[in-house]
Parts: sequence; C-alpha cells; structure tokens
Amino acid sequence: MAMAAAGELHFLLVPLVAQGHIIPMVDLARYLAARGGRVTVVTTPVNATRNRAVVEGAQREGLAVDLAEVAFPGPEFGLPEGVENMDQLVDMNMYLGFFKAVWRMEAGLEGYIRSLPRRPDCIVADACNPWTAPVCDRLGIMRLVMHCPSTYFLLAVHCLTKHGMYDRIADELELFEIPNFPVCAVANKATFRRFFQWPGVEKEERDVFEAEATADGLLINTFRDIEGIFVDGYEAELGRRTWAIGPTCAAGMDAYARDRRGNRADVDADWIVSWLDARPPASVLYISFGSIAHLQPKQAIELARGLEASRRPFIWAIKEVKNAAVREWLDGDGYEERVKDRGLLVRGWAPQVTILSHPAAGGFLTHCGWNATLEALSHGVPALTWPNFSDQFSSERLLVDVLGVGVRSGVRMPSLFLPPEAEGVQVNCAAVEKAVAELMDTGADGKARRARAKDLAAKARAAMEEGGSSHADLTDLIHYVSELSKKKRQEREAADAGEMALLPFAAELGDKSGEQIEAEDTLSVVQSYAA
Ligand code: UDP
Repeated sequence: MAMAAAGELHFLLVPLVAQGHIIPMVDLARYLAARGGRVTVVTTPVNATRNRAVVEGAQREGLAVDLAEVAFPGPEFGLPEGVENMDQLVDMNMYLGFFKAVWRMEAGLEGYIRSLPRRPDCIVADACNPWTAPVCDRLGIMRLVMHCPSTYFLLAVHCLTKHGMYDRIADELELFEIPNFPVCAVANKATFRRFFQWPGVEKEERDVFEAEATADGLLINTFRDIEGIFVDGYEAELGRRTWAIGPTCAAGMDAYARDRRGNRADVDADWIVSWLDARPPASVLYISFGSIAHLQPKQAIELARGLEASRRPFIWAIKEVKNAAVREWLDGDGYEERVKDRGLLVRGWAPQVTILSHPAAGGFLTHCGWNATLEALSHGVPALTWPNFSDQFSSERLLVDVLGVGVRSGVRMPSLFLPPEAEGVQVNCAAVEKAVAELMDTGADGKARRARAKDLAAKARAAMEEGGSSHADLTDLIHYVSELSKKKRQEREAADAGEMALLPFAAELGDKSGEQIEAEDTLSVVQSYAA
C-alpha cells in the first residue's frame, strides 16, 4: 500500500487530564505529525505548561504539533484553583468534583473549535472524555476514541459487563473465569474493576459506554505482537474499526523529549544519566508507582528496608515523601546516608524513559500502569510487578504469565480490601529482598527473562517503524480519516447550503428562534412557497 499522507488532515487530540493519558496522546501527536498530519493537543493551562517543552521540541524537529488551552472549571466543583490533573487529587473526596469538572469542559472545547478558521478533520478523544461526542455531533466532525489501558483489560471488562458478572457476584474477592475470553483467565471483581465504578459517577460511566459505541473507530495504545488476539476480539465485540497504534513511547523520541516527558523532572536528567553511566549494564533497579498510586507509609518503609537489604543499586521515584510519616522515618533513620553509594531517591517526578532507556537499567519495580508496562517492554527491562488498582493487575498477568518478562512482588489485591490492621502492607522487607534478588538474578532464569525482554523490545520498536504492524494500522487509520472526514465536510457544506436556501423561508417565519420553529410552521411556509 502506498504510504498514506496525513498532510491535509488536522487532528485534534483531547486527552483525559491525567498523566497516564496525556503522555501517550502527546506521543501520538508526534507520531501522527511525523506522517505529515497537523496535530493540536487540547488540554487545560496547567497541563499545557507541563507538556510545552516536549511540544516545542517537536516543533523544532519540524513536526506540526501544537497545544491549545481550554479552561478547567474545577473551582465550580469545589476544587482549588490550579488543580487540573488527577495526580493533584490528594484525597478520594476530590474525585467526584474532578470528573464533574472534566465533563464541564464541553463548552470550552466547542468554543475553541468554533473559533478556528477551519473545522478540524478528526477528533481523537480519550475514552474517558465522552463529553466530546455531542460537540462532534453538533459540529459535524468525525470522532475516534483512544483507549489508554491494555486490550486484555478492555476485553476482560467488556466480557464481565456483558455477562453481568459485576452485578451477579457480590464478593469482590471471589474468583471466577472470565466468560467468552480468548484465553483461559481467572479473575475477581477487586482486581478487574471498571474505571468509573464508584458511587456518584453512574451517569459518567454510561456516557463512556455510549460514546464508545457510537465512535467512528477505536485506537488502542498497544501492538499486535503482544495483544493481537485481544485487539481482534475487542474489535469483533464492539463492532467498530479498531487500530493498535502503539507502543506510543517507542514512536521515536530524542533525549530532550525523554528528559521532559509529562513534566519537568524533579532531578537533573543529565546528572541521573551520569549516575547510571557509572553503573554496570543491567545492574540498576528503577522503582516507580506511576503518577497516582501511593504506598501507605508502613508499606513504603518495608520497601525501603527491602531495597537496602537487596544491596543492589536503585533509583526510586518516591512520591511517598509527601507523607509526613515517611519523611520523618527517612530523615530520622539516616536511610539516605546509609544507601547513598548505590541508592538514589527522586523526590517527585523522575525522567522515567531516560532511566529505562539507559543500558544500566536492569529491572523495573512497577505498579503496572499500562504506560509503565509498555515503557518496560519497549526498553527490554524485566519487571517486578506491584499492581495497586484498576487495570494494573491485568498488566501484571500479561507481563508475568503471558510474556514471561516479570516476577511478582506478592501483592494480591488493592489495599482497599486489606484489613485496617495490615496498614497497607502486603510485601514485607524480606519479601522485597527475595523478589528483587529473583528479578535481578544473573543465572539461567534471569538470563532467559532478560533475553525475552530484549526480543519484545525489538518487536515493539519494529511495530512502530515502516513495515511494522502499528505503522500499518496508522496508515489504515489515516486513509479512513481522509475518506470519512471528506464525507463529513461535504455533509456540513450541504447542510450549510440547505440553511442558505431556507433563508427566504426564515424571513417568512419572522423573528422566531430556530428552537421555537415548530415542524408544522416550517411545513406550512414551505407549502405556501411551493403553491
Ligand atoms: N512518569 C514519569 N515520571 C514519574 C512518574 C511517572 O515520567 O516520576 C510517567 C511514566 O513514564 C508514564 C506515566 O507517567 O508514562 C504514568 O502512566 P502509567 O500508565 O504508567 O501510570 P498511571 O500514572 O496512569 O497510574
């Protein structure tokens, strides 16, 4: 097939305002622009600021990528000014207001699009942004839905919903087989929870399903070598065109973009690289729980002790220092001083892909967020899996059971389901030490795991290059957008022309507004003209 040129097409990408969603959308923007498209990422001011460096870097490379800002109406729903990203929500009570505010971005998006000299050809909206659907309907723009979790998770949740398992089974921890799933998989509700399954967001959840069912197509950040069977299954179940266009993190990124991806790092990336340069290949363990999950203080301390006992070099992106109990323990215990020759604590945002892409990175203790999972896979770094909630338990299965590139830490359920006296501890210091030793093992098992990881990394990169499956899926998507957007444009022009033709009738109808004009009125005026 000739390479599709996205040259004339303008894509508007609308990510959910959460790191695990904005980051892959910005990657996708670069990937689409590299195919000649013009791409605008629409987000809120705080999130635009976080991503501006990467976007400007892409512009300097000659890519037609831009950012547009839409206000975030958080204060209307009780959120402090400037809270615009899920990683800023400090307690569960803020989530409801946050999602209500996300839904209220609809007017801002519509106003922005109406202000453009020309309608964009296609909107790619995060699956969690169904409020984009009525905007697209009103403006006659085609709409694709982008999913950010794995297809394994999406299909599992679809099957569980379709077969009524969430309603039928009361015990969150009861194990059952996922019905109608392409592979045999045992699950429970606790570890396969739907994203919007908590009180107060029932309407929002319905909106998500409806907007997916009416989308012009679906994009998934995955690649067919690891999830082909699930992508095909999902496409068949949903009956919508589906493209696997990832892993977006392997879309080609220079060091400038890597060091600044998602946010300005709280540590100098060049310094981290020189720290890694001084370590042997595949010797360093990187630890991160993504942008949202936090360990409870007692669990964070057990992890710290286990890392110390492991005697391996490590870099830990430790968000938990925001918690006073963890900070006091760290300071009072002299921990940093004791591990200073081999342990690095990044107190905040770490340049994750800079670290994982360094040859010294030998293991990744990860919460199994889907982006983290893809980043581990794309860089050939075996994973020590420590899921917390949402889709993370299914990514663990994929890494450990399906792909054979992971070792389990021993977490069994979201900490929400633990008895209070456990204080969130599921993996004690000794278990951490043992799991790290197993992951970093240089014996036969460790070598085989590392070889599989390297093989998958090569496949991930190949998928994104010309001739690869994700590249081909994107080519197909561009063709599809090119055809469908043309049709939509013609429909809009025909509708506009129709409105122009009706102008004389409108004069007859006097000063009634469009909504006031009853069908009978219109009909009678049209008939009198025809007579
Ligand atoms: N990330 C990062 N530095 C950090 C923490 C996270 O760059 O200190 C990035 C990470 O590379 C990934 C994203 O933030 O791209 C988090 O997405 P993921 O799906 O892994 O987890 P979530 O935060 O959604 O739970």
